[in-house]
Formats: sequence, C-alpha cells, structure tokens
Amino acid sequence: MNLTHIEHIGIAVKSLNDSIPYWEKIFGLKCYAIEEVPDQRVRTAFFMIGQTKIELLESTDPEGPIGTFLEKKGEGIHHIAFAVKDIENALAETEANGIRLIDKQSRKGAEGMNIGFLHPKSTFGVLTEFCENKNT
Ligand code: ZN
Repeated sequence: MNLTHIEHIGIAVKSLNDSIPYWEKIFGLKCYAIEEVPDQRVRTAFFMIGQTKIELLESTDPEGPIGTFLEKKGEGIHHIAFAVKDIENALAETEANGIRLIDKQSRKGAEGMNIGFLHPKSTFGVLTEFCENKNT
C-alpha cells in the first residue's frame, strides 16, 4: 500500500451556492471547478489547499448517497480520500486484510480520478476513499 497524501476531504452540503462563498470569503480559497458526477448523484465543487482538496458534495437525488446522508446526519464531513499509486492493488490488499469494501473495483470519480470506497462499518466509522490520478 502506498498512500501518498490526503487527496481530498468530502463535505456534504445542502447547497453549493450557499456554501461556496463561505470557503471563498472566510479562507480566501477559489472554487476552481464544479462538476456533476451522475454516477454518484452529486454536484461537486473543489478548492485546493496545498496538495489537498476540499470537495463539497451537493445531492442531485434525495435517494442518492449524499441525499440520504444529509437526511440522516445533516451537513458535515462525509469522507476522507487518500491518494494511492495503484488503486486496484490498494483495494485488493485492503480486502485481503479483512476490510469490507463498497467498491471491489475502481470506478470513475470527479476530475477523471479512479476511485473506490471502503465500507465505514469496517473503518471505525470513517467512510474512506482511495483515489488514483490517471492523469499524472
Ligand atoms: Zn471523494
């Protein structure tokens, strides 16, 4: 396993329009991309802090993963994402160590990343994502 850095922190919000100005005004960050990920039924907004991004997640479907999260828990930190060198290997190694996976194989996430999630029931409550940047 080769975790290189925290790729991003995913934060569930009710509205990108309402929450983006908070990150821009209070912290002086610039929202550099807004992208819809139909597969995950979200719209995402990104900010960069050093090597790490803040990913705001707005639901596009109340039945989707962020829709149900907001309903149950309200706004707040949703997941943490680690950058890995080889995501298929990282997922396989994690599963071999007895951790339950949400994604046995990677899939396409925002920004052309390959992503895969570990199940929070196996990770002490932290929804954990692996990301491999295929662009670099
Ligand atoms: Zn993420």
